[in-house]
Amino acid sequence: MANIVAIVGRPNVGKSTFFNRMVERRQAIMDNESGVTRDRHYGYAEWVGKHFTVIDTGGYVTGSEDVFEGAIREQVEEAMNEASVILFMADCHDGLTDLDKDFAKVVRGLKKPVMVVANKADTAEWSYNSAEFYGLGLGDVFPISSASGSGTGELLDEVVKHF
Ligand code: GDP
Ligand code: MG
Repeated sequence: MANIVAIVGRPNVGKSTFFNRMVERRQAIMDNESGVTRDRHYGYAEWVGKHFTVIDTGGYVTGSEDVFEGAIREQVEEAMNEASVILFMADCHDGLTDLDKDFAKVVRGLKKPVMVVANKADTAEWSYNSAEFYGLGLGDVFPISSASGSGTGELLDEVVKHF
């Protein structure tokens, strides 16, 4: 199975910022049958000699009839199905929200390795706050700052153990 990491989580937690920091080469996936470029962001990353694909996803919003949100939801579900490891990202500044909890239910049902990433832990104080994400019941929480890169090394060390 290919090494694929999907970054999921509600909008604005910093998924794309982390993706951009992590990937060194981007790929616009072409759908062979239709020739249409799929609207999903794939990138290649390497850590301690291990290579893997990273998928950035849109936000996941539950309970909405909106067509656009439906498309995002579909995209995220597809990314989660493809992934060998899921990074569930939350935001230390906002703390644990209802949307995070709804999302966690979906992720838990997938029975794949999940790491909870508490982003925006820019300082030791914010990092301390990230403990509340243990309440999601998804497993270990990794405080990081996608802005500065702090904590990302420890996270990636754990990610590549799955490959
Ligand atoms: P996405 O919707 O989950 O992809 O989130 P984005 O990557 O677009 O980021 C949303 C906002 O959070 C932007 O204004 C980012 O600059 C900000 N952001 C992302 N990572 C960090 C971080 O580590 N620390 C802080 N303070 N802000 C961040
Ligand atoms: Mg984004």
